[in-house]
Amino acid sequence: MPYVVLDDRLSYYSFSKEHPFNNQRYFVFKDTLEEKGLIKFLKKLNSRKATLEELSLFHTDDYIEFVKEKELKGGFLDYLDTPAFPGIFDASSTIVGTTLNCIDKAIEEKTAVFSPVGGLHHAYSNRASGFCVFNDICVGINYLRKRYKIKRILYFDIDAHHGDGVYYSFIEDPDLFIVDFHQKGIFPGTGNYLEKGKGKAYGTKLNIELKAGCQDSDFFKEQEKVKDFLEKIEIDFIIMQAGCDCLSGDPITFLNLTEKVHQQTTKILTEKAFQETEGKIVILGGGGYSLSNIKRGWLAVIEEIIKIYD
Ligand SMILES: [Zn+2]
Repeated sequence: MPYVVLDDRLSYYSFSKEHPFNNQRYFVFKDTLEEKGLIKFLKKLNSRKATLEELSLFHTDDYIEFVKEKELKGGFLDYLDTPAFPGIFDASSTIVGTTLNCIDKAIEEKTAVFSPVGGLHHAYSNRASGFCVFNDICVGINYLRKRYKIKRILYFDIDAHHGDGVYYSFIEDPDLFIVDFHQKGIFPGTGNYLEKGKGKAYGTKLNIELKAGCQDSDFFKEQEKVKDFLEKIEIDFIIMQAGCDCLSGDPITFLNLTEKVHQQTTKILTEKAFQETEGKIVILGGGGYSLSNIKRGWLAVIEEIIKIYD
C-alpha cells in the first residue's frame, strides 16, 4: 500500500495568509482526501524534524545559523520572496525531516510515498530562494547516498518553476539524472534547454522549457522525448516534484495544463520504479498556489499511486 504524510505539523511551514505559500494548501489537500474517501487506500506517515547533522548533509553551517538568527530578527531570508516568521527554523527542519522519513519508508516497504509539503527546489546550500528555506530534495539525495549507498537517482520535476537549487547543486554529478519541465521566462529564469549538466555529467540532465499558455498536447509531445531519455538511464531511486503551479489558473504562472500531466507523469515514473527501483519512489508536493488546482493535481497523483500499488 502506498503512503501519504498526514501530520498537521507540516502546516507550520506557512508564510502569512496573504503569501501564496500558506498552510491552507496542506489543509485543503487533507480535507479532499477525506471527502473523496481515499484515506482507506493509503497508509499514514508522520512528519519529523531533521537533525542538524542531517541539514548539514547539504547546507552550510553558516546558513543554518543564519536561518536561526533570522527567526529572531525577522525580515527576509532572500530578496523579498521568503519572509522569516516565528518558528521558521523548526518548520523548515520539519519539511526536510519528513522527506527523509518518506525515503526511509519507500526503501523499507518498497513503495510510493507522497508528502504534500516538500520539494523546496529553489533553496541553495547557502541561501534561501523563492519560498524555499531548506532544500529537502538535495538533503534527501545526499541522505540516500550516505545512509543507503544509493547513488543513481532520478529527480523529475513538473513544477512550473525551474528547480535551480537542485540543478546547480548537482550540475557536475553524473549519477543524478534530472528531468525538469518549467515555464520559460519566469522565476528563477534558469533551466535553458541547452543546460544539460557539465563535464562528466553532460547529458544527464534535461531541461524542458514550456511556453506561456502551453497545453497538455504540448507537454505530452515533450514527454515522448523524455521517454527515450528514461529508457537509456539506469537508476535505483526516484524523487518526483509534483508542483501544481503548472495547472491552468495558477495565480503566479501562465501554463494551461490539466491534472492529466500529473496522472501521466506519475504513471510513467511508477512504471520505471517497478522496472528498476523495486517500486521505490518519493513524490513531493512542490508549488501550486490555487487551492482548486492543489485538489486536482495532487489528487491525480494519489489516485494513480493507489491504482498501481496495492
Ligand atoms: Zn513553482
